[in-house]
Amino acid sequence: MQELFNHNITGLAPSASIQLMAKAKEMQAQGLNVINLAGGEPDFDTPAPITQAAMEWLQKGFTHYTVGQGLPELRSRIAKKLQEENGLSYSPDEIIITPGGKNAIFLAISTLVNAGDEVMFLDPAWVSYVPMIQANGGIAVPVVLDYDQDYRITYDVLEAAYTEKTKLLIINYPNNPTGRILTKAEAEILSDFMLAHPSLILMSDEIYERIVFDGNVSVSPATDKRIWDRVITVNGFSKSVAMTGWRMGYLAAPKYITAQIYKLYQHSITCVSGFLQKAAAVGLDCTAEIEMMRKSYEDRRNIFFEKLNAIDGVEARIPEGAFYAWVKIEKKDMDSFQIANYLLEEALVVGVPGEAYGKGGAKCVRFSFATALDQLLEAADRMKTALDKL
Ligand code: PLP
Repeated sequence: MQELFNHNITGLAPSASIQLMAKAKEMQAQGLNVINLAGGEPDFDTPAPITQAAMEWLQKGFTHYTVGQGLPELRSRIAKKLQEENGLSYSPDEIIITPGGKNAIFLAISTLVNAGDEVMFLDPAWVSYVPMIQANGGIAVPVVLDYDQDYRITYDVLEAAYTEKTKLLIINYPNNPTGRILTKAEAEILSDFMLAHPSLILMSDEIYERIVFDGNVSVSPATDKRIWDRVITVNGFSKSVAMTGWRMGYLAAPKYITAQIYKLYQHSITCVSGFLQKAAAVGLDCTAEIEMMRKSYEDRRNIFFEKLNAIDGVEARIPEGAFYAWVKIEKKDMDSFQIANYLLEEALVVGVPGEAYGKGGAKCVRFSFATALDQLLEAADRMKTALDKL
């Protein structure tokens, strides 16, 4: 009998983090004072100049289809940003504006992956890469990085995952969930690996690129001219400019790649709302607001981590970027699901179990520190009380 549904979709696993969040919601509905640190978004409002611009363009009636890969003025502004801030050379016609970075990643995977192709990704990894690969008939191949090696990329670990069928490698720096940035040394390893495999494409998800601490800079792999023509750079406005709900992102890649992606885009998206694109262009000029938010995450990180590291059995390594505390909790041989569940029930604190991000997340729990400071302090106190009981 013919299958009713696409088995690539029916085979997808439900999200472990969403299940935990649903449980937290239930507990909140029962009147319990749950502190939710499971989210993945800035706790700031979108800066006023951006919302102002959106309202103005909406009132002007800028509400029709915008033909093309995105408004030329936004793509030009992004090309300038990528050049000035990331050292990346892309022309406006090598940029596509998408509804969120997530959609940029999905479009790129759909465009590249044929059934049975292998896609390597670094584990621990953001929870959506694997389902996106599988939804497109690809085989997701984890490159499990080691907590004890501070999740550093090595040539050997990449090579061990590579086969004749490998089409694409996905990386994400600054990293969700670990908070690691891509160092120069690791970028060189990646370049060497790409040069050894001349048909491999690299997708670099740089969505947290503006959220870096202590003067760190995360390297954009496409700055290496030797591999530039095989890199897709993904970025967006959600995290850096607090625009998660606007669904504004983009990808940049050589024309021979964007030309193929744009075909799928035309038949599935048509365009991103014009007034939102006008507003997003303003977002790239909100330098002071972006820096204020970044600094606030950094300050909260410092205070939260001091408290976390004072808890017995807890190791919270200081993240170089993004806004997540990736905390190793070693108590009674409990796995990360058991620990996250224990903290929810005993401390009423919600974090995401590390194994939701892959094998490399064993014993870890992810907490967002894009959360009010008093909540972070209270959460750390409650976690200490709960964990000290074990
Ligand atoms: N990539 C990573 C690593 C993320 O954490 C997220 C959001 O959580 C995204 C991409 C997608 O962001 P958006 O679609 O909001 O641009």
